[in-house]
Amino acid sequence: MNRNYRFRLYPSKAQEMEMLETLDECRKLYNHFLDEWKETEKVPPKYDLQSKIPAMVKKHPALENVHSKTRQYVLWQLYANLRGLRGSKEKGRKVGRLRFKKYGRYKTFVYNQTGFAVIDNKLHLTKIGEIPIRLHREIKGKIKQVYVKREQSGRWFAAFSVEAEPEKLDTTGKKIGIDLNIQNYLTDSNGERVEHPHELLKLEERLKIEQKKLSRKKKGSKSRLKQIFRIARVHERITDRRRDFLHKLSRYYTENYDLVAVEDLAVKEMMQSAYNSKNTADSSWSTFIQMLFYKAEGAGRAFVKVDPKNTTQNCSRCGNRVYKQIWVREHRCPACGLVMDRDHNAAINILNKALLEVGSVRPELTPVEMRPLLHPMDGASFVKEAGSSFQKP
Ligand SMILES: [Zn+2]
Repeated sequence: MNRNYRFRLYPSKAQEMEMLETLDECRKLYNHFLDEWKETEKVPPKYDLQSKIPAMVKKHPALENVHSKTRQYVLWQLYANLRGLRGSKEKGRKVGRLRFKKYGRYKTFVYNQTGFAVIDNKLHLTKIGEIPIRLHREIKGKIKQVYVKREQSGRWFAAFSVEAEPEKLDTTGKKIGIDLNIQNYLTDSNGERVEHPHELLKLEERLKIEQKKLSRKKKGSKSRLKQIFRIARVHERITDRRRDFLHKLSRYYTENYDLVAVEDLAVKEMMQSAYNSKNTADSSWSTFIQMLFYKAEGAGRAFVKVDPKNTTQNCSRCGNRVYKQIWVREHRCPACGLVMDRDHNAAINILNKALLEVGSVRPELTPVEMRPLLHPMDGASFVKEAGSSFQKP
C-alpha cells in the first residue's frame, strides 16, 4: 500500500534559485512537447517520446541541470494528460484542450525512484543539493517518489509517496457510524459530536476580510501584489489546519473502531442538492472519507459506505419513519417514544445499515472501492489556489 507524507522544506537562497530553475526548465519541456503533439491524432508510444529527450538536452544545455528522471516525468505527465483527453474524446465527451503553462504556473517537479535521499533532516536532491526539511512524522517504508512543490506564497514542500507494509491494529470489538452534517462537523453513533474547528472558522473569517481589502487595492500596485501573497498565506494556513484536523479525526476513528460506517457522499449530495446545494459542497467531507478509507485499509479495519436514504428520517430504535424538515434538530418518535438528537439518530441508522450490509452481503469486510488519489498534493488541497489570476510578470 502507498502512504503519503508531506513536509516543509527550507531551501537556502541558492537552492531556491536552483529549484525555480528546475521548475522553469520542466515547464519549457512540457510546453515544447505539448506544442509538438497537440495536433497529432495518435499520441506516440511512451518510450518513443522518452527517446526524444537526449536531443532536446543537447539543444538546450540548461536541461542538463535537471535530474534525468525529473525530465522523464514531465513527459509522462503530459503523456497521461493527452491520453486522458483523447480517451474522453473517444467516449464522446466534450473536452477542452491542454494549455501551455505560463511562467510561474508550473509548480511541481518529481524525483522518481532515484536521485533523492533523506539523511539527517535534509532532503538530498541530485542537481540541487541538501535541503533542510522538517520531518514532523516518522517515515515508515520505502520512499518511491518525491514531489517538490512551490506554494503560491513561496513556501516549499516535499510530498513523499511511500510504499509501506500495512500495520494491522488489534481488534477493539467496537463499531461506529458517522453522520456528516452541516450543524457540526460530524456526529457519531455514540452521540459524540465534533464541531468545526474554531481556529479554522476564525481563519476563514480572516480570509474574507483580506479578500475585501484586496478589492480596494489599485490594479498593478505593489500593495496589491503584497495583498495577493497575504491571501495566499491565509489560504495555505487554512489548508494546513484542515488537513491536520482531518488526519487526527480519521486516525482517531480508525484506531478505536473495527468498523467505521459513513454515508455514500455522492448519493447524499445528489439527494440534498435540490434544496441545499451550497452547504453540501463542503469538499473536506470527501477528503475526510478518503483519509478514513486509506487509514482503514492500512490498519485492516472495515470501512463501509451506505446508502443515505432515510437515515435521517427513520427511528433508530423502532424503524418508524419520522419525517422532519432540515431545521428540526430533534428526532421524536411517536411510535416508541425515542427522543434523540437528529444527527445522533442518523449516525446509529448508518451503523445499523452498514452492519446489515456487512453481515448479509459481504462476509469478508472488504473496503469499498474509492477513487485513488491522483497526486498526493492535489488530494490534500481543499481550497482553490489563491490569487489564481496572478502571474509573475
Ligand atoms: Zn421509534
